[in-house]
Amino acid sequence: MPTTTLLVADTINNTVTSKSRELAGVACVLAPDAPESAVYVLAGEYIVQAGQGLCQTTGLGAIALEGPDFRFPNPEALASAVCSLPELETARHICFLHTPGGCQVAAKVAVKIGAACISAVENIRFESDQIILKRAFLNGKLKMETRPGTERVVMTIMPGGFAAPKSVDQGPSEPRIEQRQTDAAVRDERYTPCTLTKTPEADTGLDKAAIIVAAGRGIGDEDNIDIIHSLARTLPNAAVAASRPLCDMKWLPYAHQVGITGKTVAPRLYIACGISGAQQHVQGMKDSQCIVAVNTDPNAAIFSVADYCIVEDLTLFIPAFIKAYQAFLSWAYGGGRHR
Ligand code: FAD
Repeated sequence: MPTTTLLVADTINNTVTSKSRELAGVACVLAPDAPESAVYVLAGEYIVQAGQGLCQTTGLGAIALEGPDFRFPNPEALASAVCSLPELETARHICFLHTPGGCQVAAKVAVKIGAACISAVENIRFESDQIILKRAFLNGKLKMETRPGTERVVMTIMPGGFAAPKSVDQGPSEPRIEQRQTDAAVRDERYTPCTLTKTPEADTGLDKAAIIVAAGRGIGDEDNIDIIHSLARTLPNAAVAASRPLCDMKWLPYAHQVGITGKTVAPRLYIACGISGAQQHVQGMKDSQCIVAVNTDPNAAIFSVADYCIVEDLTLFIPAFIKAYQAFLSWAYGGGRHR
């Protein structure tokens, strides 16, 4: 069977990221009757073993691109290697995860083969055999469907948009994984990734907290992070999280970031303060048992996932809430602090 779909997995340190399994879910949507026409592409210095695990759990075959150029994540080398695959000739759909590296490689491959490149795809449907791809805009406020004008389509897939298939029992047959050595031809001398270090992770308490108070860009000023910390201190077993822009601005360390490139959390209560509700954030907190959102914009996308929506300036609402909550505790417990 010719390969009609290439699923380019995210790999790091010779392991395949867990989100890469979701690409098999995309293959099931693209070809429900023949998902095996999809093949994974993995790159690493020694990636075959990790690839075998992926093949076993998804039931799909894989091409393992091995070579020293893939010791570190290397989008330039990966783009060259994918472009030189014979399977690319027959592939109609080439799928990447929507990560900075995935977007970089996807754009290069699309230019090379003259295909449409659609990013951040959340949903795929077919209308009279024509593929239609859905994606979000304006931090999730708008959804748009796009019908690509080329027969072949390169797409980046939003993590969380497609369920990974349940583990497949392959029986006695070996997973189909084909090892290919890459050579210097894939190297792009302009870029040489040379180190990869893990940043020391502070204990944020996010994993164990029953309540998470999350700050977004809507806090407006770095000093206002104190308001968020005050609320977390007031509530029992609470920790502080942040959206990515806050961590990018260094107002909180990256260990506090929730979302597709941060932590995935599911506390009993998630209080989103000044967070617009971009998919990249929502994917990391949508399974919280109860979501409260405080936002000045009544049309903010976060309200579509929130159980309680508070349209108010957080710098007014949170101090007023803390005051009222403490007054309630004094009344209920005779002045003792409830921790
Ligand atoms: P904004 O979108 O700027 O929203 C601020 C909100 O605050 C607005 O809704 C506004 O109405 C409200 N507001 C303003 N003033 C007030 C006030 N006084 N009181 C109350 N509300 C107020 N983001 C993540 O969070 N996590 C990720 O893991 C992540 N990964 C990403 C990965 C990729 C590949 C990409 C491309 C993006 C990623 N992002 C991630 C970024 C994401 O797309 C959004 O840009 C980000 O989540 C927006 O953060 P925000 O909601 O804090 O800011």
